[in-house]
Amino acid sequence: MDLSDRLREIHRVVRDARADVEPVRMDPATATLRLRAGQPLLAGASVPVDEKVAARLLREICRIVATPQAAWLLDAAGQRPIPFQAMADALLAGQAEALADTRGVPAAYFAFVVLAALRPSFRRHAESLEPLTEDVPWHRPLCPICGSVPSLAELRGDPGRRYLRCALCEGAWRVPRLRCPFCATTDHTRLRYLRIEEEPDMRLDLCDACRRYLKTRIAPGGEAEPDPFGRDLATLHLDALAWERGYESASPATPPLGRRPRPPAQGPTPHGGPDTARRVR
Ligand SMILES: [Zn+2]
Ligand SMILES: [Zn+2]
Repeated sequence: MDLSDRLREIHRVVRDARADVEPVRMDPATATLRLRAGQPLLAGASVPVDEKVAARLLREICRIVATPQAAWLLDAAGQRPIPFQAMADALLAGQAEALADTRGVPAAYFAFVVLAALRPSFRRHAESLEPLTEDVPWHRPLCPICGSVPSLAELRGDPGRRYLRCALCEGAWRVPRLRCPFCATTDHTRLRYLRIEEEPDMRLDLCDACRRYLKTRIAPGGEAEPDPFGRDLATLHLDALAWERGYESASPATPPLGRRPRPPAQGPTPHGGPDTARRVR
């Protein structure tokens, strides 16, 4: 299997996994109060995760990745199970060190596998909670449901309304179009985007103030991306393009699988080259 086959296979097993957990419910008044105070709905909570599904996904992903690191992690998790529930609790408590015990594999690889394994459980909670976030203003660069960072942006409609999609629960939230969601700069000379000729429905949004980037899906029809994880994995060459130019992802879920991936064809052709990346509009 080459890299794109492996990514497709990872996507399939994660997409098809169903977490057997009772979705969290919250009354709308509590949700509104929390969001108005700038608190993600699940911050500090302990919500059930399906540890069986998470453990199975970890094993399957390691088998698909099939590198020595993956074999090592598979073996380590077999000897001492990964405490997925405790990790989810710690992530929701804002303890980034939850992912520090990487069992001897690189941190980025460990984070990718663990977050992919937790995704079906979080997706289930987000389905239940997302309607509560819809009419409440929210401008933090974190998911209003679970507090994770975004892995994808969307421009829905024409002119596009800008949404971010969570790297863990896949929740969506609306943000101002002409502002960097990470450092909040609105300086138009520092916000640019890069389009790829072969992919008219995607672009890279770049911020020269904080050097972060976001992959952005362009959907003039206004429909939400039904499969943000699939879209993220299918566009890793855009991450590579941003990394090459010195921009950083906010998302720990970006898979660091071996060499930085290249697109299947000859490679993306930035419109007019990097120096002519356009200003955002
Ligand atoms: Zn989330
Ligand atoms: Zn920025």
